[in-house]
Amino acid sequence: MAFASMNPATGETVATFENINKAQIEDALASSWAAHQTLKSWSMEDRRAAMHRVADILDAEAEELGAIVTLEMGKTLKSAIAEVKKCAVGCRYYADNAADMMADEFINATSATTYKRYLPMGPIMVVMPWNYPMWQVYRFVGPALMAGNTGLLKHASNVPQCSQSVEDVVRRAGFPEGALQSLYITTGEVGDMLRDDRVRGATLTGSERAGASVASICGQEIKPTVLELGGSDAFIVMPSADLDKAVNIAVTARTQNCGQSCIAGKRFIVHADVYDAFKAKFKAGIESLVIGDPNDPETDIGPLVSEGSRDEIAKQVEAALKDGAVRVTGGEVIEGPGFFYRPGILENIQKSSNAYYEEIFGPVALLFKVNSIEEAIDLANDSPFGLGSSIFTQNKVEQDLAIDEIEAGATFVNSMTSSHPALPFGGVKRSGYGRELAAEGLRAFCNVKTVSIS
Ligand code: NAP
Repeated sequence: MAFASMNPATGETVATFENINKAQIEDALASSWAAHQTLKSWSMEDRRAAMHRVADILDAEAEELGAIVTLEMGKTLKSAIAEVKKCAVGCRYYADNAADMMADEFINATSATTYKRYLPMGPIMVVMPWNYPMWQVYRFVGPALMAGNTGLLKHASNVPQCSQSVEDVVRRAGFPEGALQSLYITTGEVGDMLRDDRVRGATLTGSERAGASVASICGQEIKPTVLELGGSDAFIVMPSADLDKAVNIAVTARTQNCGQSCIAGKRFIVHADVYDAFKAKFKAGIESLVIGDPNDPETDIGPLVSEGSRDEIAKQVEAALKDGAVRVTGGEVIEGPGFFYRPGILENIQKSSNAYYEEIFGPVALLFKVNSIEEAIDLANDSPFGLGSSIFTQNKVEQDLAIDEIEAGATFVNSMTSSHPALPFGGVKRSGYGRELAAEGLRAFCNVKTVSIS
């Protein structure tokens, strides 16, 4: 797709960008490799200072950068600014903690001195989506650059200015020229670059289709990949839960970022004893959200990212209703300029319906009634995905069952699933593999070298 900034609140294309040519792609590869050579010669203290400067710039320019996010993908300005500030927190975390994660680990194994040393691999292809256009990229930038790797960024084609801003911030912070490059290239050219010897791995956040394509090329090339794909997270509510708290969090979990979050609660699995009360309060909460101009501080729900995305969600909802689902509230296109959609709730979703298995990447909650914790967990697991999960219960046995039995990369008890710079992030099943963030994420693109000195 061509790189263009289209304002989802108005439908107006405000800027378009030319793709780079073959010679520029070669230059990018060469400069990424050269930047890696420079960066790996830097001390951890030098890397730390530069990463702190990245964080300082992000904090100082959060409003301007947030405005670019809102312009290009439509989230509310307040949430866009918060996203940029979260990137600053993440960069500081890796600035201050990467040295410990990279430190030699001694193992008393033989009569020799033996240890593990973590060494950077080199340029990594970074393919990212538009939904958290800053956080998705900075959660690579923090750990990867601190480890001594470099990044070749193919961002989603609808967020070109967000993409370029990351390159600019990293350069201005004093990292070597080419340490993080924003490339306006096609997905076919991503494949070509993955086949280049200088590219040592790939991380992709996005759809299964894109993930499978990148991973299959990397498989042929014997290169490591981290895939962060879709999700249809379970949000379980049991009778002992603090119901008002669960409802408030449920509303946020399903509608923040206009429902366009991989770890959004999407399937609300509620025990029969509290189902009716939960449904009534959840409906009231969803209906109370303010839909409108994303730049207005009063707005909770801005537009969806694109007309195509809105059409897809509308189609999924109509198909679910045809299959027997019942509309509790909302779930409708709002006519007029921009790609607005009224948040909604569906219940009575049939197991034979696609809606039961698909990810709905917008503000539509699916509500299910169950009679036991076992039934709740079985339903949670009856999904191709396994990204995050939440359970609301005061019962310790139920908490432990959920932690042990839900097939997901994360289980949050009495809170919604969220990402944190210090916690590993990733999924199982069709939600992908590998982990971003924490030591696991930083080491995903490290050579764990075994050293033995006799
Ligand atoms: P997408 O179409 O897969 O796009 C994601 C990125 O992949 C974009 O940069 C896209 O470029 C690129 N891409 C698409 N096809 C490709 C191919 N064949 N080869 C290489 N690159 C390719 O995803 P989306 O629909 O925009 O994003 C929403 C999806 O991402 C949802 O499923 C969501 O759950 C998932 N997601 C997952 C996480 C997570 O951490 N697990 C986080 C956020 C989102 P173009 O824009 O040029 O097509």
